[in-house]
Amino acid sequence: MEPDGRVDLAGVPGDVLALCERLRSQGKRAWIVGGCVRDMLLGRAASDWDVATDARPPELLKIFPRAIPTGIDHGTVTVVKGGAHYEVTTLRGEGTYTDGRRPDWVAFVDDITADLARRDFTVNAVAVDPLDGKVIDPFDGRGDLARGLLRAVGDPLQRFSEDGLRVLRAARFVATLELTLDPSTEAAIAPTIGTYRKVAHERVRDEWLKTMKARTPSRAFEVMRRTGILEVTCPELLEGAGMEQNKWHAYDVWRHGMECMDACAPDPVLRVAALLHDVGKPRTRAWSDKTQDWTFYEHERVGAEIAAPIAARLRFSNEERERIVALVRFHLVHYSDGWTDAAVRRWIRRVGKERLEDLYLLNAADVTAKGRDFQPDLDTLALLKAHVARVLAEGAALSTRDLKINGRDLMKELALEPGRILGEILEALLDAVVGDPALNEREALLARAREYVAKSR
Ligand code: ATP
Ligand code: MG
Repeated sequence: MEPDGRVDLAGVPGDVLALCERLRSQGKRAWIVGGCVRDMLLGRAASDWDVATDARPPELLKIFPRAIPTGIDHGTVTVVKGGAHYEVTTLRGEGTYTDGRRPDWVAFVDDITADLARRDFTVNAVAVDPLDGKVIDPFDGRGDLARGLLRAVGDPLQRFSEDGLRVLRAARFVATLELTLDPSTEAAIAPTIGTYRKVAHERVRDEWLKTMKARTPSRAFEVMRRTGILEVTCPELLEGAGMEQNKWHAYDVWRHGMECMDACAPDPVLRVAALLHDVGKPRTRAWSDKTQDWTFYEHERVGAEIAAPIAARLRFSNEERERIVALVRFHLVHYSDGWTDAAVRRWIRRVGKERLEDLYLLNAADVTAKGRDFQPDLDTLALLKAHVARVLAEGAALSTRDLKINGRDLMKELALEPGRILGEILEALLDAVVGDPALNEREALLARAREYVAKSR
């Protein structure tokens, strides 16, 4: 920021300034507004650029004939320039909210301050004049940024009961902007949680994924836990709060999940898997008299069963769901240097070759997140990686596609009909080949297949 409280417009994309200029040439006013201004003030790269203007929607469509009327009823059009999308929105105040999601009506206004007043947090209620870089900051967003505070604009109880997404945005910004929630803003979350309940799961998922881009997403999840947001969205995770682990761990189950997620940058979906990786621990915890410590037998299997409906509920895509569940299922890596090549091949076959990189990252994060001496575990992981690399370099068969015969060969040579039996045979053959790669020869495989068929009749 410049000393006189202006921002340096050199940081604004030329297309955004040109867009404002175009409005001005038509006798309209324009401001750069919201999160992108906040990001400029923080010296961060903005993720998207928004412009507010006193041009009304029909005028906007005339000035930008090729704009996409993305939210025309609310005064928003999207202008595409140089492949980037810019949202241009008519200045507006806002009416009452009865559904907790959208205002019942919008009133277009001529005043930038009124427009800023409907925005969620003071740090987001800022605008810049594209002519001189002057900052318009009626709610002292800059002061809050300097103090490191996230504060609702106006009465937080009212603002959070208007729109349930705002409490989740609050949690997200605590992490991404590394701010602290102003106490009265935080205190307003629990009483308005009923409005949060109305937020669609896919919106929650999107916010989670944006949160995962923070350096320390656990900042957001701690807010969600404290305020009751997580109780609504993912109560399964709370079962681990305050639950003591064994002597290998410095943290309770909840905090260990937080540390693991934080350590598991940067892929957002991988971080969701890290968040959930020990979700099965609370339901499997049992005391061992022998070790005089807690055990969590099969927590990864139980965890995968718990994670699957969570990922479905949050509307992750099929591919993301499979990835999350598989990572929870296979996150435990019990490697020792006594493993044979065949044991390593069996492990790769079980977890899937395509999950190896994910599992390495997750395992490194998991052991680090114990908060105790984790170097031995990292050394073990390094040995496993080296062993896997050796085995992969040999090119041995690890999936049925790598076998020297396929379903068509089976049908032809063994006179079999299409059906489940073909897949069963191929899996059985792969079992044998993973144990001994020398068996991957056409004739030897067909002979085994005949034996399999004879035995199963
Ligand atoms: P991001 O960095 O994710 O883009 P952002 O704050 O820019 O964060 P956007 O969704 O791009 O978020 O919204 C742009 C601006 O619109 C916000 O900065 C804020 O001023 C306003 N805004 C967005 N969502 C809400 C909301 N639910 N309630 C009130 N104001 C909102
Ligand atoms: Mg934005």
